[in-house]
Amino acid sequence: MTKKAPTAPQYAPARPSPPPNRLSAAVDNALARPAAQQPQWSDTEAVHRVRTVLESVAPVVGVEEVDRLRAHLAAVAGGRAFLLQGGDCAETFAENTERYIAGTVHTLSRMTAVLTAAGRLPVVTLGRMAGQYGKPRSAPLDPSGLPSYRGDIVNAVEATAEARAPDPDRMVRAYVNSKAAMAVVNALLATGAAGPTERALAGSGLFTSHEALLLEYERAMLRVDGRDPDAPKLYDLSSHFLWIGERTRQLDGAHIAFAELLANPVGIKIGPTTTPEQAVEYVERLDPHKEAGRLTIISRMGSAKVHQVLPPIVEKVTASGHTVLWQCDPMHGNTVTSGSGYKTRHFDHILSQVRGFFEVHRALGTHPGGLHVELTGGDVTECLGGAQRISPADLHQRYETACDPRLNRAQSPELASLVAEMLRP
Ligand code: PEP
Ligand code: MN
Repeated sequence: MTKKAPTAPQYAPARPSPPPNRLSAAVDNALARPAAQQPQWSDTEAVHRVRTVLESVAPVVGVEEVDRLRAHLAAVAGGRAFLLQGGDCAETFAENTERYIAGTVHTLSRMTAVLTAAGRLPVVTLGRMAGQYGKPRSAPLDPSGLPSYRGDIVNAVEATAEARAPDPDRMVRAYVNSKAAMAVVNALLATGAAGPTERALAGSGLFTSHEALLLEYERAMLRVDGRDPDAPKLYDLSSHFLWIGERTRQLDGAHIAFAELLANPVGIKIGPTTTPEQAVEYVERLDPHKEAGRLTIISRMGSAKVHQVLPPIVEKVTASGHTVLWQCDPMHGNTVTSGSGYKTRHFDHILSQVRGFFEVHRALGTHPGGLHVELTGGDVTECLGGAQRISPADLHQRYETACDPRLNRAQSPELASLVAEMLRP
């Protein structure tokens, strides 16, 4: 008798599995819509090959962890906890080292400790890490005429035509780097090796997040959770939490349609041009079952506009009967170019937007639920001000970011202690 050739791989398939037909048709439908900020791949066959590879890998995170985060975020949305989210604007493969990650984790844990010590609320901590590799850009070409750097998941930052050509294999590298970063984070938390303040993270742990930007990658990381066979659910297991950015929040676009399909908790950035009507549409699309913890609205309108733009949005969303998590991103609406030519943000403007956010929510009786910042554990000179009084003339010293300016390891806990004052009863 001849031995039958094996029809399936010899290793156990990763569980949960990629979407079966019905769900994959829904994904196809969502992704057939116009998608902003996607690279122009030249080798579509390679893109397809990469997708097949990523559909078969073990996911970066597990469904139980995602569910646990969602429950924590429900507590935040309900006013019973506070959310701290922070990390690089753009992670890079080169900086994906144990030392670098430990620095970020340490900064996040110091901030968590300071915010928790304010006493009133437990803190949920979410890193912009282990997958924050894709960047939206204001123009497809940079000032020198090369394709813009779109994050390490797409191309390389070096200013050559070769480096800037989108390379589908980078999606596999992004996956491997995310998985490695996740392992480092878990090891740090398990051993407390990054220092005693890591105990601040012992309560709810440290979850991961990134912008759901590069749709080829995110779709390949979809897995079905079949725990309830009558209601299979789609999870994007590239990360615990995903958000839609300011540049890809078109209501008729692919990103919102994709986020609609997910069982993960999701966020949406809203900038200064967002109308209350749009905000209600986001809420109805992304939180159709009115589940606290499902949707985080991340306001990033800038310190000068928060008092004017945010209140009617909060009022209209509240009147719609949805319980969303209100979070403040005081970074992206406060970016300026310094006289010395660097893209920067002033600590005072960042603080002033957070203050405005708290004032708006206090006045309306809603919960100022969270803070979303770009930070690093490094001693960089990218944002102005703070107790170190970083000046425009200092920026060149250690301006290391691959994209936007980050609060450094001193400015980050400094901001946290000022926010802690706002949280005090
Ligand atoms: C970001 O978070 O790095 C970003 C690009 O933000 P936004 O979408 O709010 O501009
Ligand atoms: Mn940024």
